[in-house]
This record gives sequence, structure tokens and C-alpha cells, in this order.
Amino acid sequence: MNIDHISNNGIKAAKTPYPLVTVDTEKLAHNTGVVTDRCRSCGINVAGVIKGCNGIPQVARTMLESGCSQIGTSRMDQIIELKNCGLDDAEFLLVRIPMMSEAEEVALYADLSLESDVSVIKAIDEACGKFGKTHGVILMADLGDLREGFWSRDELVAAAVFIERSLDNIVLRGVGTNLGCYGSIKPDTEKMLDLIEIAEAVETSIGRKLDIISGGATSSYPLVMEGAMPERINHLRIGEGILLAYDLKEIWGLDMDDMYQDVFTLSAEVIEVRDKPTHPVGEIFIDCFGRQPEYEDRGIRKRALVAIGKLDFALNDKIFPRLPGAEVIGSSSDHCILDIEDCRSDIAVGDIIEFDLSYPSLMYLTGSRYTTIRTI
Ligand SMILES: *Cc1c(COP(=O)(O)O)cnc(C)c1O
Repeated sequence: MNIDHISNNGIKAAKTPYPLVTVDTEKLAHNTGVVTDRCRSCGINVAGVIKGCNGIPQVARTMLESGCSQIGTSRMDQIIELKNCGLDDAEFLLVRIPMMSEAEEVALYADLSLESDVSVIKAIDEACGKFGKTHGVILMADLGDLREGFWSRDELVAAAVFIERSLDNIVLRGVGTNLGCYGSIKPDTEKMLDLIEIAEAVETSIGRKLDIISGGATSSYPLVMEGAMPERINHLRIGEGILLAYDLKEIWGLDMDDMYQDVFTLSAEVIEVRDKPTHPVGEIFIDCFGRQPEYEDRGIRKRALVAIGKLDFALNDKIFPRLPGAEVIGSSSDHCILDIEDCRSDIAVGDIIEFDLSYPSLMYLTGSRYTTIRTI
């Protein structure tokens, strides 16, 4: 992610570290501990999901050391990179149902995957045979959110029976569901009981108990906090709720005071400070992304221009300056404009401004080749 500078006659320029994302691993360890302790007291194992920060190895390591029983991500590339970084004894769960074309990678590098298509499971079974591996699967039930998963219970049960009886290299580990991602469906006790019913139908058909009943992602964690999670749910896949704990606080209104919302810090550099009008001067047409924003005329105000933009964070309403009184008022691909009129402190060119992040900005920033990532 850090681009090496080309040397000019053997001399290399000092490379700016900005934009910089800093990961506080002590705070991350704390958050992981809070979530996994609370889940464990309800008999729930937690897969720490690292796709929100593009699989930063130190994040995965900290999650494993602090209570997660597995590492989950949507991208095989991240799993392979972590294995190359020496995280070899962890159990890896692929949380995006795999592409047929990645069956060999899944067989070779992932221990477990969420699945909803028998032809892909067969391809993984075949690849496992070739490599002498076994692979665990969790069959996904779609309970109304309308992303991945079997819609028909009979079809899911039939797939389970087929895996159990006919595939030598695949171990049916359990069933799971995902809610809240596409259809915005809120996980509740009733949905969890539906999933348990499906698990029990599978158990009756295969004549044994399932290992894993995976009740969802961060959005299912409030049920644990409220003591409303049915007993047989014994697995969750949690990313955002550990990495940021932002949505649970800001969107769900839960008391998250025992967790840090500032595990990640974005630092970016000020490149201009000036008093300017707040309303553009001239005929208003479209901005650089083809939109027609509204501009409120608040007179002349002090603004800071920061060297970071939509290319880095995508959405300027998903980064939050820590400086009291500072407000993001807009951005283009490479520039971000802050209103600093109401800030007490003096801000000058060359100063570094820090921001809190939420899920989308964390995801884009950590995936960008222009971001420096530092763990402390
Ligand atoms: C992304 C994802 C998760 C983790 O989601 P968070 O909201 O970050 O907790 C869990 N399960 C599946 C299937 C996912 O795609």
C-alpha cells in the first residue's frame, strides 16, 4: 500500500506517510475481548471478520489473541496474505459464498466457508480430493434479507443430506444466516428461532447434531447484549462491531461506552487555510461527480483544505474530524474541505488533522494503494 519512491540518480525523496490510517491494537484487543467475553457467556464463538479493514494482518492477529475463535473474510486474497504472514494455525472462514472459479483456492487455503450452491460445493470437494484436504461448510439459509442463501428449506435439507452422504472431502459443519446487509432486515429472536428450526430439520435428516448454528454478523450482536439470543445459536461473524463499534452506538442507539470507537485514526495534511465565501461565486452548474449540490450561504468563513479525497474515503459524510468545531463541508477526488471557523485552535498549512472513521470509509481507505497503514 506504500508506494516506493523512484530514485533519481540514486537519491530518494522522503515519502510522506499521509494519508495515514493508524490502528491502535490495544484498543482493538479491548473491543475484541468485550465482544467475545459477552458472546462466550452465552455459549457463542466469534469469527472476527476482517474484510472491513482489508485484512490488515495485525488486526487479524490481535483478534485471534483476544478471543476470536476464527478469522473470517469475504476475499480469498486476504486469507492467502495472512497465511503468508505466518498466521497459519488460525481457522479461516470464507464469508462470501465462493465463486466456482475459486474452488481450488478455497480448498487449499480456507478451512470453512459459507455456501448456498451445491455445484460449487461439489467443485470444492473435487479440489479437496486433488490436494488431500477436507473442508467444512456452513449452509446458508435466506430468512428474508434476500442476499445469499437457500430460499427453500427442503432444498437446504436435501443439500445437507447430499453433502453428508455423498461428498468425501466436505464436512457439513452447520447452518447459518445473514441479515441486514441487502434487505435491511433486523435480526430478531424470531429469525433466530427460524434458523434453529432449519438446523433441527437438518439434524433429523442426517441423524446427528450440527456443530455450528451461525446467527449472523454485527447486527445480530444486539440480541446477545439484550439477553434475547436463543440458546442454540452458538456462532456469530463479527467485524464492524469489534473494529469500530460505531453502528451499534450511532444507529442502534446502544450503550457502547465500554468499547472504543477510535481503534482507527485517519490522519491527513492541511494544504491550504483561507477565509472564503461559503456560497460559490458565478453560475452554479455541476460538481466534479456530475451532481448539483445545494450550497448554504453562511457568509465568509475560515476553511482548511486537506490532502485527501473521495478516491481515498469515497463518502465525505463517513469521516469525522476529531477537532472540536471542525466540519467536513465537501470533497472532490483528491481534496477535502473543512469548515474551521468555529475551531478554537489555530490551524496552519502542514498541520495534521485526525478523523474517526465508520465502516465505508475504513473499507475504502484501507483498500487504497495511497494509504499508509501503521499499527501501534
Ligand atoms: C461482512 C459479513 C459479516 C461481518 O459483517 P459485520 O457487519 O462487519 O459484522 C458476516 N457475515 C457475512 C456473510 C458477511 O458478508
